[in-house]
Amino acid sequence: MDYLLTDEQRELRALARDIAVNTVRPRAEYYDRANEFPWDVVKVFAQADLFRIFIPEEYEGLGMGVFELCLVTEELSRACGGIALALAGTALGTEPLLIMGNDAQKKKYLPRIAAGQSLAAFALTEADAGSDASAVKTRAVRDGGDYVLNGTKQWITNGGEAEIYTVIAATDPRRGARGLSAFVVEKGTPGFDFGKKEDKLGIRASATRELVFQDCRVPAANLLGKEGMGFITVMRTFDRTRPGVASQAVGIAQGALDHAVAYAKERRQFGQPIASFQGIQFMLADMAMKVEAARALVYASARMIDAGKKDVSRYSAMAKAFASDVAMEVTTNAIQVFGGYGYMREYPVEKYFRDAKITQIYEGTNQIQRQVIALDLIRTAGRQVG
Ligand SMILES: Cc1cc2nc3c(=O)[nH]c(=O)nc-3n(C[C@H](O)[C@H](O)[C@H](O)COP(=O)(O)OP(=O)(O)OC[C@H]3O[C@@H](n4cnc5c(N)ncnc54)[C@H](O)[C@@H]3O)c2cc1C
Repeated sequence: MDYLLTDEQRELRALARDIAVNTVRPRAEYYDRANEFPWDVVKVFAQADLFRIFIPEEYEGLGMGVFELCLVTEELSRACGGIALALAGTALGTEPLLIMGNDAQKKKYLPRIAAGQSLAAFALTEADAGSDASAVKTRAVRDGGDYVLNGTKQWITNGGEAEIYTVIAATDPRRGARGLSAFVVEKGTPGFDFGKKEDKLGIRASATRELVFQDCRVPAANLLGKEGMGFITVMRTFDRTRPGVASQAVGIAQGALDHAVAYAKERRQFGQPIASFQGIQFMLADMAMKVEAARALVYASARMIDAGKKDVSRYSAMAKAFASDVAMEVTTNAIQVFGGYGYMREYPVEKYFRDAKITQIYEGTNQIQRQVIALDLIRTAGRQVG
């Protein structure tokens, strides 16, 4: 489908596709098996200025939008959803700075991120605070010119590899969600350490790690916005980043579909290619239809955000939930097209299936996305929206 991209967007997509095919794809299997962070590929992303996409020009970025980041994330995820996450996870970790950071904070951190010298990470989740972000127990207590952080974050993407962490902590635990605040914490700050590194089902090239804060002193200058603005920072961040997860899902689904079509043309049973059987054709047609519908929803929501539209939460949530459900269905059916071979590690589609699953879980599970959509539907009932 023609999404009427500008010349600049076409060039960017072509660049990302070239990196995906020539750099990401040949290394995807290695990093999946090794459960290792793909630093050599990250350097290629940096050289190609991919980390500049989501950074404003005044901070040495390219000043592009959510849409352009989605285009790139999709192309990279088509080759490997885990490796793509080094970029997308950095965009997630940077978003609170973009939304709430003051000029001094932006000047200090954004050029390093833009150059790909420092990756970023976003740290909200804890053992007892998953879907319920208001249950965050990590404490930040003001002490003179510092805040002192204590607590443990878990499952943080880019954990251990990133230099810059946006961390959500409670400055006033009595106030629940309204007592949360967001801070920038740099790797190497005394009292900030890394714990368990996870061994995961999929996206194994992505580092998922525990962050441990023990009497960690962070300058008050690292508070993003004001005390109590942590929860709103998280919500506004997710509104802008959920289309990114959705584009990861679209890329994974498209990658699996590409393999399924190629295999269906090659594999022969009953004396003919399996692609000649209507049962396979209908499966491929449904897969293609759903991938395209997901892509259209992702692009439309990203364009709405970049156009500065208000009340985008519903559409970001729709894009994320729909595209990730599609990714799970399409990757499952890609294995079906491959038959028993699809179940084997030597063939590429089982990895897409494993990588797809996470897109239904992080940045809010799909149950939470449906809650966001339904609450907005109820809130705006009878009104013209969009
Ligand atoms: C690989 C990986 C990477 C991650 N990266 C990050 C990261 O970079 N930063 C970060 O902060 N977090 C990260 N996370 C955490 C992720 O965002 C959470 O796992 C997710 O939000 C869900 O929380 P939970 O796992 O505690 O599930 P729970 O909240 O315990 O949910 C369990 C089940 O209950 C359902 N449920 C919960 N509440 C409701 C409700 N109100 N209505 C209906 N159903 C409900 C959920 O949908 C789910 O099915 C990552 C997780 C993983 C696995």
